[in-house]
Amino acid sequence: MAFEGLAERLQGTISKLRGKGKVTETDVKEMMREVRLALLEADVNFKVVKQFISTVKERAIGQEVLKSLTPGQQVIKVVNEELTNLMGGEQSKIAVASKPPTVVMMVGLQGAGKTTTTGKLANHLRKKHNRNPLMVAADIYRPAAIKQLETLGKQLNMPVFSMGDQVSPVEIAKNAMEKAKEDHHDYVLIDTAGRLHVDEELMNELEEIKELTSPDEILLVVDAMTGQDAVNVAESFNERLGITGVVLTKLDGDTRGGAALSIKAVTDTPIKFAGMGEKIDALEAFHPERMASRILG
Ligand code: GDP
Repeated sequence: MAFEGLAERLQGTISKLRGKGKVTETDVKEMMREVRLALLEADVNFKVVKQFISTVKERAIGQEVLKSLTPGQQVIKVVNEELTNLMGGEQSKIAVASKPPTVVMMVGLQGAGKTTTTGKLANHLRKKHNRNPLMVAADIYRPAAIKQLETLGKQLNMPVFSMGDQVSPVEIAKNAMEKAKEDHHDYVLIDTAGRLHVDEELMNELEEIKELTSPDEILLVVDAMTGQDAVNVAESFNERLGITGVVLTKLDGDTRGGAALSIKAVTDTPIKFAGMGEKIDALEAFHPERMASRILG
């Protein structure tokens, strides 16, 4: 299960405070030392950890907590609130263009789950928001990516726009936009190409597609299992493209939590969705508060 180690350690640490009639400054400092270690072990970015600990400490050592009737509970509440803030605070929703269609560019490295997530998102938009998206197969480089998206389309009984792999992604995107307008689709989800590493050629191509389609949303799909690497990837994509949101995939696996807890703070980009499995309906809106509560038990 995701966050298992972190959850166990944090819960162990805070349980010592729960129900305590009197909590001293030393108690809080000691607890913070343990929380710090737990976060670092969970592969959370060290700068993020430092900032987090200092904020929690400041609040928890304040009068409102130590002088309260249930100081132990208050400290836990502060940790919970700050964990929630760290992951973005409020839930961040997918964009809706004032004039349809809303264009969503799906970007990310190969294997992160981009194509799968494109299908999941189409399903989500139809089911939860009553939308009528057009999926666009613009990943012409990864063998089978187009076929994979078409198969997802068939499974969902939803349209996929493709022009094979001999036409440039920019051309595909251009034609797809026309098709979407013609057929009155309210969302266009463009599954772009990924590579094994961030490279110049990939970024240039994505920039061109961005230029042409003026996306309302650029969603970066990252694999939560890759921890700090996911954060580095997010930084690179953000610098070049200005991403508007992140989809963290494979949160059903035994990820330690580093990516989930660092991405918002490092890139200032909200996590909008979480991939919770390989199945087409395994996509959830990301709720920072629920995630924090899950970690703290
Ligand atoms: P792409 O190269 O980024 O388009 O990646 P794919 O969409 O082909 O996904 C790569 C692999 O990750 C596939 O085997 C997917 O089934 C799997 N995958 C994608 N999202 C999730 C998820 O949320 N949880 C799990 N467990 N597997 C996922």
